[in-house]
Amino acid sequence: MAAVLRGSRNLWGRSLKHVDFTLVSSRSMASKTQVGFIGLGNMGKPMAKNLLKHGYPVIATDIFPESCKELQELGAQIVDNPAEVADQADRVVTMLPSSPNVIEVYTGPNGILKKVKKGSLLIDSSTIDPAVSKEMAVAAEKMGAVFMDAPVSGGVGAASSGKLTFMVGGVEEEFTAAQELLTCMGANVVYCGAVGTGQAAKICNNMLLAIGMIGTSETMNLGIRLGLDPKLLAKILNMSSGRCWSSDTYNPVPGVMEGVPSGNNYQGGFGTQLMAKDLGLAQTTATNTKTPVPLGSLAHQIYRMMCARGYSGKDFSSVFQFLREDEENEGQ
Ligand code: NAD
Repeated sequence: MAAVLRGSRNLWGRSLKHVDFTLVSSRSMASKTQVGFIGLGNMGKPMAKNLLKHGYPVIATDIFPESCKELQELGAQIVDNPAEVADQADRVVTMLPSSPNVIEVYTGPNGILKKVKKGSLLIDSSTIDPAVSKEMAVAAEKMGAVFMDAPVSGGVGAASSGKLTFMVGGVEEEFTAAQELLTCMGANVVYCGAVGTGQAAKICNNMLLAIGMIGTSETMNLGIRLGLDPKLLAKILNMSSGRCWSSDTYNPVPGVMEGVPSGNNYQGGFGTQLMAKDLGLAQTTATNTKTPVPLGSLAHQIYRMMCARGYSGKDFSSVFQFLREDEENEGQ
C-alpha cells in the first residue's frame, strides 16, 4: 500500500518527500485510537463531543481552561498545550478562530509541529486564509506529517447534531482517513482538491451567506415598515423566489423562528467578528485574483462597521438589529 501511495501522491504538483507512507498507512488503518482536538469554542466543543459519542478517546486543549471542563467531565483527557496533544495522538483536529491562531497552534513554541509524530494526520477545520493552509501543509510535510484543510458550514446547531458540511482540501489519498473522523461530526464531507481548496469553497459560501443575511434583514425590515406581520412576510418569502437559508432556517427577526440566535438576543451562533474575518478573507482572495465582488465588499464594510459599534460578540444575524438601530439614529 505504501508503495502505491508514494507513487501517486502529489501535493501542489510535487511529491511529499518527507512523509513516510508506511507510518501514514498504519495510522490511517488504526480505528478508534486517541484523537487530538484543539480549540473547544462554540464549534469545537460540540464537534469533539461527537467524536467521543462515536467511541473515539479524545485528548484536547484550549487556551481558555473553562471551555475544557465539560469535555473533561465526558471523559476527554485535557492537556496543557497543542504540542502535548500531538505527542500523544497521531490524528489531530483543530478548530480555531483565525489564521494567526492556527499559525500559533501549529508552529508556535508549544505548537503541534514541535512534537508531531511522523505519519500524523492534521485536519484544520478553522476558516482561514487558504495561503496559510498551504504554509501549514508545507511545514507539516517537513516533519513527516500530512495537513488537510477541512472548514465547515452549518453553525453551532449542526455541530451539535453532527450535521456539518466539511469542505476538504489536501492529498486525495488521505481523504478516506480524514473522512473516517469527519463523518462522526458531519453529514456531508466533500473533497474539493489540493490543500487550500476547502478554504476557497468555504470563503465563497460565507460571502454569499453574508450578502443573503443583509438582504434578508433589509427586506424584512422594509416589510415591517410597510405594515406586514414579520411571521407572515417570512412565510411568503419562504414559498416565493426570495427564499434563502437566512429567511427559512436562520431568520434574523426576533420572534419569527424558534431556536435561532435572533430569538435569544443574538447570543451564541456565528459571531459578527468571525463573519467580518471571513469577508476580509474573501476580499483578499478577490484582490489577489482580480475578481470583482462589489456586494462582498459592501457586506465586508457593513460587518466591520457592526464590529466597531459593539456587535462583535453577537450572532451575525444581528445585522437586522444594526439596520434598525441605524434607522432609529437617523430619525433623531
Ligand atoms: P470560538 O471563538 O468560539 O472558538 C475558538 C476556540 O479556540 C476558543 O475556545 C479559543 O479559546 C480557542 N483558541 C484560540 N487560540 C488558541 C490556542 N492558541 N490554543 C488553544 N486554543 C485556542 O470560535 P468558533 O465559533 O468555534 O469558530 C471556530 C472556527 O470555525 C472559526 O474559524 C469560524 O470562522 C469557523 N466557523 C464557525 C461557525 C459558527 O457558527 N460559530 C460556523 C462555521 C465555521
